[in-house]
Amino acid sequence: MLSKTINCPTPEATFELGERLGAALKGGDVVLLKGPLGAGKTLFTKGILSALGFDTADVTSPSFTLVNRYEADLTIYHIDLWRIEDPEGASFSVGLGEILEDEDAVVVIEWAERLGAFDFGVDPVEVEISGDGDSPREITVSGEIVFEGD
Ligand code: ADP
Ligand code: MG
Repeated sequence: MLSKTINCPTPEATFELGERLGAALKGGDVVLLKGPLGAGKTLFTKGILSALGFDTADVTSPSFTLVNRYEADLTIYHIDLWRIEDPEGASFSVGLGEILEDEDAVVVIEWAERLGAFDFGVDPVEVEISGDGDSPREITVSGEIVFEGD
């Protein structure tokens, strides 16, 4: 498994790293985003969406809707489990089983730690963001994925 930690001193750097990962994604990939509230998970997802051909001006956090679906170069499901309290029911609440059946889609999940030990059927790419507020972020990307730059 590959694991890379990248320093992101600005919001733009977080977005750009999301773009780099997004450019390497293909249908069926699952991306798990971990990190505290305000870490930059939604901004990172906007980078992914941008790389997949979506205009990020129209992208909002799914913290209330739980799931947003975008049709870009691929279908992207953007999920946020922040408001889900019951870890047993988290996957059911967002219809994750059904979403994962769409093998041409990319699935991005914020607060993926709420799922516990969920079997995705594939090896997900994990993105862990540390830092919040105005401080620089350290973003670790792990999984069977190779993306550009360093
Ligand atoms: P989350 O979805 O994890 O709650 P957001 O994506 O909404 O977080 O981002 C929260 C804030 O963090 C935004 O204001 C964003 O500009 C800021 N941010 C993201 N990355 C960085 C960074 N590398 N350095 C400084 N601020 C950042
Ligand atoms: Mg968010």
